Amino acid sequence: MVSKVVFGRGSFTQLGEIITPKRQNESAPFIFLVDDVFEHNTFMIAKIPLLYKDQIIFISSKEEPKTTQVDQLVEDIILSSSILPSGIIGIGGGTLLDLTKAVSLMLTNNGSSQEYQGWDLIKNKGIYHVGVPTISGTGSEVSRTAILTGPTMKLGINSDFTPFDQVILDPELTYGVPKNQWFYTGMDCFIHCIESLTGKYINSFSKTYGETALNLCKEVFLDTLSLEESQDKLMMASWHGGMSIAYSQVGVAHALSYGLSFLLGIKHGIGNCIVFDHLSEFYPEGVKLFKMMKAKHNISLPQGVCANLTDKQFNIMIDVSLSLEPLWENAIGNDWKTKITRSRLRELYSKM
Ligand code: NAD
Ligand code: ZN
Repeated sequence: MVSKVVFGRGSFTQLGEIITPKRQNESAPFIFLVDDVFEHNTFMIAKIPLLYKDQIIFISSKEEPKTTQVDQLVEDIILSSSILPSGIIGIGGGTLLDLTKAVSLMLTNNGSSQEYQGWDLIKNKGIYHVGVPTISGTGSEVSRTAILTGPTMKLGINSDFTPFDQVILDPELTYGVPKNQWFYTGMDCFIHCIESLTGKYINSFSKTYGETALNLCKEVFLDTLSLEESQDKLMMASWHGGMSIAYSQVGVAHALSYGLSFLLGIKHGIGNCIVFDHLSEFYPEGVKLFKMMKAKHNISLPQGVCANLTDKQFNIMIDVSLSLEPLWENAIGNDWKTKITRSRLRELYSKM
């Protein structure tokens, strides 16, 4: 679990006060990884408490985090400072949060980040790491994974050392999120809830969080709320949705969307939406609600993304998807291999 969290509108201004006790000395900087969408946002940047040799590194979130990108960042940070940083602070969406978690871990674990994609492969605690989400939905701020695309797979670094030491939840930071992106990332949370609550791994701990998050998503996407209420509630939905899947698992939408992302570079939020739209045979109630939310917010999704793919390309997506065994087991059960065949996946992908 994340050990410390503050929530509140404007709480980002407490960042300096929060991290100062963690500064080891003047030569051990804090590294701020910031989504480059904020590069010219002087109001936001002025609130980053820079001292001594602290550095801001702006990062584009156009593409999802890659193992090579993590390795490069680690190398740059090590070369730029004589000693390990005091800590690393990620400010942005799931892309920046996952990068921050992964860099924190790879600063204290040898080799390349691709060697740690999987479950519980990390040996050493990472450096102090803080997450500050600026868009709500992925649950990355609370999860025990940092999802990376490597040379052969898209898979997280899942470990007890991955969660942030501190999270700052300031809904005001989500001002400015474009409407479509708000929907796609918000739907990631909604889909986490549906997949967790209907999965075989469900348990009372996860269910409590999943139900809370699902109700918040229904309020945000189906009711009429003020902007402030909607921002606050979606930020809490993201947290609870993340908690729910941390103690259960996601399912069919995520298993298929990882294939789209690996082959076509389609980002997580929109990829999940493209897939979920076609999953009424697996999640009838969830897909019905999803379509209502989509209609209410006038969202149109890309069609025909798999229309011109070759057999080889379909097979790559199918391989990625089938490799995510815990997701299928959660969604379908222990006998999933008898029900989820390559031809069934090909048929599903062909509809997208
Ligand atoms: P993102 O971080 O990629 O950001 C999406 C877009 O929103 C970007 O263009 C970004 O610049 C913009 N943006 C963010 N905050 C903004 C703001 N306040 N104002 C204006 N624009 C803003 O999107 P995401 O959906 O949050 O994250 C997707 C990533 O999260 C994927 O890499 C996915 O694999 C990962 N993920 C991780 C977990 C986990 O548990 N670790 C769970 C789900 C998804
Ligand atoms: Zn997700």
